[in-house]
Amino acid sequence: VSGPESVVIAGAGPIGLSCAISARRRGFDPLVIDGGAVANSIYRYPIGMVFFTTPERLEIGGHPLTCAGPKPTREEALKYYRGVARAEGLKVRTFARLVSAARKDRRLQCQLEGRDGPETTLADRLVLATGYFDQPNRLGVPGEDLPHVSQYFAEPHGAFSQNVVVIGGKNSAVEAALQLFRAGARVTLVYRNSELPKSVKYWLKPDIENRIKAGEIGARFGAQVLEITKGEVRVRLSTGAEERLPADRVYPLIGFCPDFELFRRIGIAFNEATGRPTIDTDSLETNVPGVFLAGSVTAGREISEIFIENGRFDGEKIFGNPDERRRIAEEYGRVKRPVGE
Ligand SMILES: Cc1cc2nc3c(=O)[nH]c(=O)nc-3n(C[C@H](O)[C@H](O)[C@H](O)COP(=O)(O)OP(=O)(O)OC[C@H]3O[C@@H](n4cnc5c(N)ncnc54)[C@H](O)[C@@H]3O)c2cc1C
Repeated sequence: VSGPESVVIAGAGPIGLSCAISARRRGFDPLVIDGGAVANSIYRYPIGMVFFTTPERLEIGGHPLTCAGPKPTREEALKYYRGVARAEGLKVRTFARLVSAARKDRRLQCQLEGRDGPETTLADRLVLATGYFDQPNRLGVPGEDLPHVSQYFAEPHGAFSQNVVVIGGKNSAVEAALQLFRAGARVTLVYRNSELPKSVKYWLKPDIENRIKAGEIGARFGAQVLEITKGEVRVRLSTGAEERLPADRVYPLIGFCPDFELFRRIGIAFNEATGRPTIDTDSLETNVPGVFLAGSVTAGREISEIFIENGRFDGEKIFGNPDERRRIAEEYGRVKRPVGE
């Protein structure tokens, strides 16, 4: 058993790191743990991905994020968040996952899974800034766990001369389809809706639409995936007919959701239908005393509601006094972004 820590923050993403800065600036010395690397979600974005958001809105702790172009790339963001953790002297432990937590006497017993196995750390407060990226949404069809099926797209090189089916129609799917096409794959995009959503990045939308119009990328809109086999994806088309699309690789890129099992293990109440956890909107405390939520994990299944830009001040709500909370709430209301990821 280690600790006691004044604060344990699970998740070293942009929001977990910014919570740690808020805590430190109020005299705490928080321990930040992450099941993966620092900013592990951004680490798993496609290589070279350009953010939708301009750099100043991704900044935390008042540290400037500089980038070569108008918007930062994955690599620039990774360098930035690493640099901020270093400059702030944050105590970060990577590759240690929070598995559960329970209140025992006055403290929280946090169960971790580290590289050497299970561990227990005591904490006065626990902040979950665990995001959603570890839990891809499932199609619920046979074959989605086959080895040539991947819910994460990193880069296209290996798909040269192959048949690839990309499932989904939002930014991740569109971006993957375009990159795969440009790397010489024969790509078919399968999307359940009849057209691409408005939220597709403004520089990607005309590109994908023109590739589809030109027949360079195949598209099946209003289509439902029925099954994935070793060499094919079986779909039901909008006409009701069935088609077998050849597929050496399959990328279902259909979104993510928070880790509801972790909520259950800790006893955090949430709405089963929306996935939205019950939190005090001022302090972000859950029904479990001393356990707080921050960042995109607070939005349940509506993952596009909270992003870096409007989640990065959550630490001020958790660690600030009522005046500071009010100011932050007024200044950075949780506005819905009209377009975006
Ligand atoms: C391809 C893509 C592009 C995007 N582009 C933009 C954009 O342009 N602008 C924008 O604002 N947002 C963008 N987003 C959304 C953005 O990535 C998220 O809103 C943001 O990462 C949320 O930050 P977070 O700190 O809440 O969660 P995350 O960044 O997901 O961080 C959570 C961290 O918690 C860790 N973790 C998870 N479970 C545990 C556990 N049990 N124990 C310990 N650690 C755990 C993870 O490893 C991860 O490092 C994009 C998302 C994607 C997928």
